[in-house]
Amino acid sequence: MLIPNMNYSHLKDSYLFYNIAQKVKAYLAGHPGEHIYRLGIGDVSLPLCDAVIKGLHRAADDQADPATFNGYMPECGAPFLRTAVADYYRSRGVQVADDEVFISSGASDELGDILDLFDRVNRSLIIEPAYPAYVDANVMGGREIVHLPSSEENGFLPMPDESLAAELIYICSPNNPTGAVFSRDQLRAWVDFANARGAVILFDAAYEAFIEDDSLPHSIFEIEGARTCAVEICSLSKTAGFTGTRLGYTVIPHELTRCGMELNDMWIRNRTTKTNGVSYIIQRAACEVFTPEGQQQIHANIGIYKQNARTVMRALDKLGIWYTGGKNAPYIWLRCPKGMGSWEFFDLLLNEAQIVGTPGEGFGKCGEGYFRFSTFGSPEDTRIAADRLTELLG
Ligand code: PLP
Repeated sequence: MLIPNMNYSHLKDSYLFYNIAQKVKAYLAGHPGEHIYRLGIGDVSLPLCDAVIKGLHRAADDQADPATFNGYMPECGAPFLRTAVADYYRSRGVQVADDEVFISSGASDELGDILDLFDRVNRSLIIEPAYPAYVDANVMGGREIVHLPSSEENGFLPMPDESLAAELIYICSPNNPTGAVFSRDQLRAWVDFANARGAVILFDAAYEAFIEDDSLPHSIFEIEGARTCAVEICSLSKTAGFTGTRLGYTVIPHELTRCGMELNDMWIRNRTTKTNGVSYIIQRAACEVFTPEGQQQIHANIGIYKQNARTVMRALDKLGIWYTGGKNAPYIWLRCPKGMGSWEFFDLLLNEAQIVGTPGEGFGKCGEGYFRFSTFGSPEDTRIAADRLTELLG
C-alpha cells in the first residue's frame, strides 16, 4: 500500500482566516447590508501601475509575432529580468551577480521549494509571531522546529543566543505580522551567529520596499558576512501589486557552500528539474517595475498604503495603545487594549465598529493579546475605521 507523507497529519489546522470569515458572515447575516471596514487583509487593493500594464500589453503582442514569440523560458529566469533585479541591488550598493538571481513565481512558492536543498535532519528556527507558511512547510518536510518567541520587551526583534540549536534560520524583516524591522547591528549578530555555526539564514524580504528609514537594511546582503550564510527571498506581490500576477526572486550567492556543495549550483539543478520557468509575459512586465518610471509609480502606490498606516497610527497614538510597525512596513501590530484577548478584541471591533482585523494568536502562541492591522485597504475605509476605533475606545 502506498504510504503518504505522514508529516501532513502533524499539521495544525489553520482556523485563523476561516474563523474570521465565519464570524464576519454570521455578523452580516444579523446585520444585512452593513459595511465592513477590512483592516485584516494581506492582499493589495491598488491595481498594477501603468508601466507594468503597458509592459504586459507589449509582451502579449510579442507572443503574436513569429519574430518576437517566446516558447519555454530559461528555468532560472529570463536574462533580461535577472539583470534588472541584480541592477536593483547594485543601485543600492549591494553587489549581486546576475547569475545569483533566480526568478520565481512568488515568495511562498520559493519558501516551500527551497527546503529541497537541505537535509531533513536540519532543525528550523522560526521567530514568532511568524508568517504561518514557515511552520507548515517545515512540518510537511518532517523537520524539527525550534520556536523562538518574541515579545514587546525586545520590540518583537529577538536576538540569537548560545542556547539556540538550529541549522536553518528564518528571518522576515520587515516582519509580517509585527511590522518590526531588524537594524544593521541586529542583523549582523544573526549573520555572525549563522556563520559561526554553519547555519543558513532564509531571509524573507517581501516587504523591503516599505522601509523609509535610511538606516535600516533592505537586504541581508548589506551585512558583511551574509554571502556565506544567507539566501534572500523576495516578491513583487506587495511591492508592486503582483499578488495575482505572480513574480518573485531569490538571491543565492556563489560563496554559500556547505559540505563542498554550492547552493547556487544545487538550485540551478533543482529549477531545471522541477520548473519550466515563469511566463515570458509576466517576466517582461516585471522588468518594468525596475525602470525609473516603474519605481516612481510603485512608490506612489506604496505611498497610499503608508498614508493609511499614518491614519491608523494617529488613532492608536491618540488612544495610547502600544504598537510596533506601520512606519517601515504595511502592518501595524498592537497590544489589545484593556488586557483583552486577541479574539475578544476581534469580536468587539466587529460587533461595535464593524472593523475586521487579524487576531495575533493566529501567528503563534506569543501573539495572544496582540492584533494586526493591515494598511492595504482603501484610504476611505481606513479613515472611517480609524475614526470608529477612536470613538469606540476613546
Ligand atoms: N512572505 C511573507 C512574509 C508574506 O507576508 C507573504 C505574503 O503575504 C509572502 C512571503 C508570500 O508572497 P508571494 O505572494 O510572493 O507568494
